[in-house]
Amino acid sequence: MSRILKIAFEEHFNGVGFENYSQSFVSQISADVAAELGRRLADFDDLRLQEMDAAGIDYVILSQTAPGVQVEKDLAVAIRRARENNDFVAQRIDRHPTRYGGFATLPMQDPKGAADELERVVKDRGFKGALVNGHTNGVYYDGADYNIFWERLQQLDVPFYLHPFDAYGPLYAYTGHPEMAGATWGWGVEAATHALRLMFGGVFDRFPNVKVILGHMGEGLPFQRWRFDSRFAAYPCGVVLERKPSEYIGTNIVVTTSGVCSPAALMGAIGEMGAEAVMFSVDYPYESASVAADFIEQAPMDDATRALVCYGNAKRLFKL
Ligand code: MN
Repeated sequence: MSRILKIAFEEHFNGVGFENYSQSFVSQISADVAAELGRRLADFDDLRLQEMDAAGIDYVILSQTAPGVQVEKDLAVAIRRARENNDFVAQRIDRHPTRYGGFATLPMQDPKGAADELERVVKDRGFKGALVNGHTNGVYYDGADYNIFWERLQQLDVPFYLHPFDAYGPLYAYTGHPEMAGATWGWGVEAATHALRLMFGGVFDRFPNVKVILGHMGEGLPFQRWRFDSRFAAYPCGVVLERKPSEYIGTNIVVTTSGVCSPAALMGAIGEMGAEAVMFSVDYPYESASVAADFIEQAPMDDATRALVCYGNAKRLFKL
């Protein structure tokens, strides 16, 4: 079967020494599966390119797998290791510049330091934006101290991929259900909640050109747009927004299909937000590139919509 051109950008690697940060969730995976994931996360020149070719994926934007420096407790170490990791992946990108781009690892412990590192790699290394693995040691990015970061992101005109990780501290609701706390459910709830904090916290009113990307078909948010408008109007709790909640979801917040290869969910997301807000991605190596490619090529869309989702929207967003 002939493949349609695709761009994907929830595609992970692991920088040297960053395996330690991932131990909490890798320890839940069987040893042989973890070893295979580790091999794929560390590869830049062989299997990754073969799988891209087989799936018709022309270009990917690489990002550090979760949680990276978001769980680093030492500020100086977070700043240093983010910088090292960005330089590390930039060297790998330089070996295959037509196939790879980079998302910055950012030390969000320090809003100004994160802004400075983002600016450095966008201007000096041609990075396409940042991918941040959720909160940093329990700190969310809707507070006023992050204005300096969002202002710089908006100036640089690059998007911010908000990737899931564990909630801060064990949640009572998951007591006795470790299977729910991670990627199966808890990560999506955590990332969606963080995105809503940015929206209700006024980040998109203060910085209207900021784009936040959510994976996993928008972590459920597209399917709740109507209810956000209905219930926020009824219970605003003193919060004033310039637009209805639904108007931020699909504009400031856009989504990828990573890890949700369901035609019905894709139709729902496009129906809610329009085809320009939905973009293909895989979530390599945790999901299969060929399964994702088959899904997006066979889902019931017209050719123009499929072209937007597979590559057109990404080309526009990343100025490729
Ligand atoms: Mn991922």
